[in-house]
Amino acid sequence: MKPITPTQWNFLKRYQRALDSKECLSRRFGGGDCDGRIVHAHMIPRSQLMQIAEQGHVHAVPTRLTPIAQMKRSGFTAEEIGIGNFSTLQCFCARHDKTLFAPLEDAALTLTRQQLTLLHYRALAAEVYIRGNAEDAAANEGRKYLSTDPQREPFYEAFQIHSLAAIAAEEHLKRSETIINLSRYDEIRAAIIRFDATPVLLSACAFRPLYDVIGTKLQNFSEEAAYIGMHILTVDRKPAIVFTWLKGQTPSQRFAKSFCLQPYRELTTLGVQTAFEYAEHTCMRREWWMSITKGWRTLLLNRIEMANRAASVPDEDFLSFESPLDDWKCLSIDFVK
Ligand SMILES: [Zn+2]
Repeated sequence: MKPITPTQWNFLKRYQRALDSKECLSRRFGGGDCDGRIVHAHMIPRSQLMQIAEQGHVHAVPTRLTPIAQMKRSGFTAEEIGIGNFSTLQCFCARHDKTLFAPLEDAALTLTRQQLTLLHYRALAAEVYIRGNAEDAAANEGRKYLSTDPQREPFYEAFQIHSLAAIAAEEHLKRSETIINLSRYDEIRAAIIRFDATPVLLSACAFRPLYDVIGTKLQNFSEEAAYIGMHILTVDRKPAIVFTWLKGQTPSQRFAKSFCLQPYRELTTLGVQTAFEYAEHTCMRREWWMSITKGWRTLLLNRIEMANRAASVPDEDFLSFESPLDDWKCLSIDFVK
């Protein structure tokens, strides 16, 4: 196993700085009135994290470049992360973070149409922020090489992949922001799957579903690709998987429907696999992580390792159901139409 060289350390530091660039996305889409200071905005409410934390910590796979570079040598692993540092992105100013998300942060999560819209909006904002910064970081590095230099190739490829995602995500973010500004919450669609168990895992993300859960092709990664939001949260102190999309987004609706049509006893396993496939913001109660089989831990960590390759594209059987990972006992499935 080769150690990380000083040149590689410098590269990682420089690249991470580009990935951490600060911006209030609300201003970018005409929100106005930023208070200037960019905060570490939580993607999963702190009140939710507290419910699965042990002594103020959750278990998660690190997402920063330096630990990822180390794990690529030594193997991917989950570790303790303080809840103050988990799932924060610098993509909103203090004012907008507070005012925009007050209905999510200051009230109980009951999954009203307004709360569903805000969850969807914030997951898309995270995607815009992450993809936009990844696009810029790759472009900055790529510019250092001549177009004929083979060393430029991986940066150019990463630039194209992230750029395409950023364009699609920005379109959806703009549409979501208009819905919020005009309080047109009837445009949100959702599938809410409730379970009867002690919460052990939380997750937040937005992704472009290429296939549904049984492997039917839904769409390609185009500039117009549809996004779906996926959250695993707690409602009334019980787990719930929440899919959100905007009216008219057929690939997203078909993904959610195919998920909900699977047998109740398989839904937990499918939900956890999807969270590990797509979500940079997935955390667990340590006790639960240690209680699942080593085979499942390896399989889930492999998903994260694959997802960390920019060019990775899920194939049609990315969700496999061979043996159950866990069963939180599905109580009900509701569609918000
Ligand atoms: Zn702002």
